Amino acid sequence: MSIPFVTLDDPRYGEAVQVAPLVRRVIAKNPSKFTYHGTGTYIVGDGDVAVIDPGPMVDSHRDALVTALEGQRVSAILVTHCHSDHSPLAAWLRERSGAPTIAFGPHAVGTDWVEDDTPDEPDDEERAAAEAAEAAGEAKVEESLDLAFDPDVRVADGEVAAFGDGWTMRAIHTPGHTSNHLCFWLDEQRALFTGDHIMGWSTSVITPPDGNMRDYLASLQRVNDLAPAVLWPTHGAPVTDGKPFVDAFLRHRLDREAGVLAAVRAGTTMIPEMVKSLYVGVDKKLHKAAGRSVLAHLIKLVDDGLVDFDGAQPGVTTPYRPA
Ligand SMILES: [Zn+2]
Repeated sequence: MSIPFVTLDDPRYGEAVQVAPLVRRVIAKNPSKFTYHGTGTYIVGDGDVAVIDPGPMVDSHRDALVTALEGQRVSAILVTHCHSDHSPLAAWLRERSGAPTIAFGPHAVGTDWVEDDTPDEPDDEERAAAEAAEAAGEAKVEESLDLAFDPDVRVADGEVAAFGDGWTMRAIHTPGHTSNHLCFWLDEQRALFTGDHIMGWSTSVITPPDGNMRDYLASLQRVNDLAPAVLWPTHGAPVTDGKPFVDAFLRHRLDREAGVLAAVRAGTTMIPEMVKSLYVGVDKKLHKAAGRSVLAHLIKLVDDGLVDFDGAQPGVTTPYRPA
């Protein structure tokens, strides 16, 4: 069964669009292979508002937030996780509004594994896009880390993160995409702001060591247990029928895990070969990210005692074999 992805036809860049009672969204112009049309910043409340994921350092987005927040008092800046398309403008908004930044914690820097983290060589198309963005005064933004981010307030799973007139926002800890990832639950609407945990248009990148497939699967189940009426991802359109959608995500990951295990049992030892056979039809530009997801599956399979590896630790250049 394939995942019933949803598309967003018109991002309406720079506009604060009322998407639900008490919920507005402004989309930043940072489209990419990881961000879809760009980062969607949510503004919850009227008068006293919480801002979820202020977004990337893009001038036009900062200006759009200034306009959107005119006459509003920002009481909380909620951050799902500190990838550079989510958190960098939090520092600016904090300075401007005096509101605290609220998150699970700073990014947990994984120092336990030495990895091949050399960036992909950009192809001509990407280079042209980057140059155009630079010429337009826009930063090139991808899924890099915002290590400068450290929240004023740390919230744990289930705690109220912010509230205002007619709305209460609760932190839901959903590790997997990153270990510090939070979703935010709007009690009154049974709505879940999912950050990058669940996106409407694509699966999420799970990249070890901070990304963890076992945690990710448990966090998907966690969302189903909440029985949300609607999911609001940072990237893309809302998902209004959450359960079948999340079920399809879970099945997709378990199918992939089975595929990785079958590849190892068939004698494929190296991740790039596994990606070639498992991601047929997927844009080559995404193969490196896919390799990280395969690594995440392999780490889980090693933990499960089904796969073994040569060397000190499982990595992207490690040979694998059946246990
Ligand atoms: Zn992310």
